[in-house]
Amino acid sequence: LLKNGRGFSTAKSLLTVERPRVYYLELEGPKVYYIKKDELLSIPELDFDLIITGNRTAEVLGNEVAKVYGAEILSLKPDERDFWHLNDLDLKPKSIAAVGGGSISDYAKVLADVTGAKLTIIPTALSNDGYASDRSSLRNNGIKGTYKTRGPDVIIGIKEVLEDSCVDCLNIGGWGDHLSKYSSLSDWKLAAKKGKEKFDQKIFSEVEASLDFPGNTKDLFYHIINSGKVAQRFGSSRPLSGGEHAIYHALSNSRNYEKEHGRQVAAFGLFVLGAYELAGLEPIIKWQDYQNKMKALGLPMTLKGLEVNYSEFEAAVMKAPTARKKERYGVLDYMKAQGVLTPTYIRSVSETVGLI
Ligand SMILES: [Zn+2]
Repeated sequence: LLKNGRGFSTAKSLLTVERPRVYYLELEGPKVYYIKKDELLSIPELDFDLIITGNRTAEVLGNEVAKVYGAEILSLKPDERDFWHLNDLDLKPKSIAAVGGGSISDYAKVLADVTGAKLTIIPTALSNDGYASDRSSLRNNGIKGTYKTRGPDVIIGIKEVLEDSCVDCLNIGGWGDHLSKYSSLSDWKLAAKKGKEKFDQKIFSEVEASLDFPGNTKDLFYHIINSGKVAQRFGSSRPLSGGEHAIYHALSNSRNYEKEHGRQVAAFGLFVLGAYELAGLEPIIKWQDYQNKMKALGLPMTLKGLEVNYSEFEAAVMKAPTARKKERYGVLDYMKAQGVLTPTYIRSVSETVGLI
């Protein structure tokens, strides 16, 4: 696989199709709207000729958008959201709308990158914070990886869809992903203190200030968009991703837990914050206060509630410090260096914070 400067394979490099070279400016990130469904036609710059959607999201919104714009529909089953499928497509869209969740928009980012089409993302659920970023989490022959693709030009939240008929009620995952920043910021701060990683006080403070609970759906929509922008500005997802995401990645590499991202990282964040206490270090929030916020948001607070098996969780925590290629530091790495990242220790933290 080809690598770009930051160590990511670019999605384009994996494709064999002919493609035009496209240049675009990344100045301020996408234009963002939060509107009612019937206002969709009043945005003059929109003129879709291809709608990428899934089976259920087509029913919720995709079909309707396609009809309004007279656009073609590409409805992807979950097993078609893989690179191999892209190579078989012969599409030359000028303006794509991705109507769906994370896997639909991640796929549309690749197609937009390859074809140079304008990209609008219309999320049907606020399940993860990746919509605004220029990265895609994709499967390549079944193996999941993160690739540099391109960010959207426009993101539109449709009020009725996000507030009233959330698909699978995945918004709770978005709240979980947002809450888990208490854990990622704690790790980032620790990494900076130990001289292990680049730190940006302005971004740190901005993200910390966004941790404001509870909030409404519109707040969540903007939190999610801003997360993508932060990642783009900083140059990596570092501010939004600490030990809790490392555990998630270690776990989802061994099984497919994709759908549960936000709920899992929230609970793994509880573990990470508990680990701080046992290590005698200071996180930016006490695990007990974090747990209260989880409770208020209705997030599962036990492995049982997440349907995650304890031995797999334990293996994922052991593997977490090395689960990612990029050099990141946090409390788990600290514990590992002290020689105390052991099954006994993991069980003790899990019991303390009530995960088991
Ligand atoms: Zn996340």
